[in-house]
Amino acid sequence: MSKFWSPLVNDLVPYVPGEQPKVANLVKLNTNESPFGPSPKVIEAIQAELNDSLRLYPDPEGDSLRQTIATYHGVDPQQVFLGNGSDEVLAHIFYGLFQHGEPILFPDVTYSFYPVYCGLYGIDSRQIPLTDDFEIDPADYCGSNGGVIFPNPNAPTGRYLALTHIEKILDANPDRVVVVDEAYIDFGGTSAITLVDRYPNLLVTQTLSKSRALAGLRVGFAVGHPDLIEALNRVKNSFNSYPLDRLALAGAKAAYEDESWFRECCQSVITERQRVTQALEQQGFEVLPSMANFVLTRHPDKSGDYLASGLREKGIIVRHFNKPRISEHLRITIGTASQNDALIDGLSSL
Ligand SMILES: *Cc1c(COP(=O)(O)O)cnc(C)c1O
Repeated sequence: MSKFWSPLVNDLVPYVPGEQPKVANLVKLNTNESPFGPSPKVIEAIQAELNDSLRLYPDPEGDSLRQTIATYHGVDPQQVFLGNGSDEVLAHIFYGLFQHGEPILFPDVTYSFYPVYCGLYGIDSRQIPLTDDFEIDPADYCGSNGGVIFPNPNAPTGRYLALTHIEKILDANPDRVVVVDEAYIDFGGTSAITLVDRYPNLLVTQTLSKSRALAGLRVGFAVGHPDLIEALNRVKNSFNSYPLDRLALAGAKAAYEDESWFRECCQSVITERQRVTQALEQQGFEVLPSMANFVLTRHPDKSGDYLASGLREKGIIVRHFNKPRISEHLRITIGTASQNDALIDGLSSL
């Protein structure tokens, strides 16, 4: 606390990102990054952009990238909003679309940035318990509210909600925005972007950080009705007109132009996810069915704390949340085959 702080700052409870360790040679399975590099075409595109044009501001609306993403998903560029990572897109959503006086709804076990944005903007929220199987029950999201948000697949559970269930939530909330955070949709799910033309209250966010291996570039986006996008543009242009720099715009565009790289990386994660799940189950772990690039798992006899610190001593980092309902669980990012072997070996000796 300092006398210089705005009073609000005293009460902020900031998000705690997963650790980015400074030591090399760790098996890093704690922040759901891609274990593969980005497409070589992305690197080329960024290198081609390293020139005198850096003295000029980037395109504030990112027209070329928006067009690429719109074409890829079969929507109009006016339905696409770009941000500096989907975290920034989410922040603008909370500010611009979730302040209606009623509490917004999200699951009790979910992405821990949502309560942080609520704290930042003074938005009330109600956390809806997942079922005993850690599933979202659409019926729980049908009462009056100021908006609804959940990831699909959910994080950190990995559980996927079918589009028919999402439609129930959309149908029950015609006057409120329902945000589906699809950070992990490319690992086996079907995107709700296919529903945006039928639901003016649906906003879908995605990121290039996970399935496109560009966490370091910071690019995310939202897709929805132009009226929702317009709200986000108003907020953005009242905050920072240039959230994506020239390198990010060029690299992100190139990522969509290498479909085969993208597909191979996602397929490899899906295959390895199945292998890791089976191996953990053979060791007595309970593993939630996951459609993401991570699994949430617990052992009936070994504590989450013990397992996480035991792995760390072996140079393997996974995420352990000291939170209700999941304090005995580990969230383990699916890595390369050899990283996953190290994980499986490491756990078997604990
Ligand atoms: C990783 C993640 C994000 C944020 O990704 P960015 O890197 O900011 O694009 C958003 N939502 C969920 C659920 C995530 O796991």
